[in-house]
Amino acid sequence: MYFESHAHYDDAKFDENRDILIEETHAFGVDTIINIGADMESSQKSIELSERYPYIYAAVGVHPHDVKDMTDKDIEKLREWSRLEKVVAIGEIGLDYHYDLSPRDSQRYWFERQLALAWEVELPVVIHSREATQETFDIIKASNVRRGVIHAFSGSVDFARRYIDMGFYIGVGGVVTFKNGRKLVEVVQEIPLERILIETDSPYLSPEPVRGTVNNSQNLKYIVEKISDIKQISPQKVAKITSENAKVVFCNKKVVA
Ligand SMILES: [Zn+2]
Repeated sequence: MYFESHAHYDDAKFDENRDILIEETHAFGVDTIINIGADMESSQKSIELSERYPYIYAAVGVHPHDVKDMTDKDIEKLREWSRLEKVVAIGEIGLDYHYDLSPRDSQRYWFERQLALAWEVELPVVIHSREATQETFDIIKASNVRRGVIHAFSGSVDFARRYIDMGFYIGVGGVVTFKNGRKLVEVVQEIPLERILIETDSPYLSPEPVRGTVNNSQNLKYIVEKISDIKQISPQKVAKITSENAKVVFCNKKVVA
């Protein structure tokens, strides 16, 4: 019933109970999970998870935090992985000017390269953008990529609309339940449900009322309840529509359950 569009089950925080938790999460009603790579190692682990579980799919890519060490060889490897049946997106890629863990020139360069790769291999992208709203938008616009999700969207209603006009979907996670999440609540109010994907970003960003704990995809229910409250649409319908949306984003080239 729920489609988890963004999780990191390869994270070390799940080392003690990964398999039990994944199975429990699936039994709970999370039908499909996209496990998101953030560097070469976690991309490889995402693929391994997708091979182990029929309902897990993988995104491969290098997060702006880690692009400082990226090479042409990594692009080659990502290209090779993109041909695998269960690799359904390039991500997470983008810009992070909050932490600036890689030099900004390097962030922009490898973001552009990975966008070009996504276009070449005809896969959607999973975008990470923090304190770089305008530049992220400009770089995507200048690329040919017109399919994907702006993960953990933190921009204004205006930017959400501009992304939607360009063909993108808006990723809504735990922040929508936070007391200081007013900006995202407004975005959810103003954009059509048909353009929203739900995500937990597990193990990070647990929603209220479990904020601060290790997140898992079962907590999608709190995010769905909040969207249901905001939009006055039943939780069942929110789960159903966001699940259909995710299938549109991730299954153009490859079939997702
Ligand atoms: Zn993430």
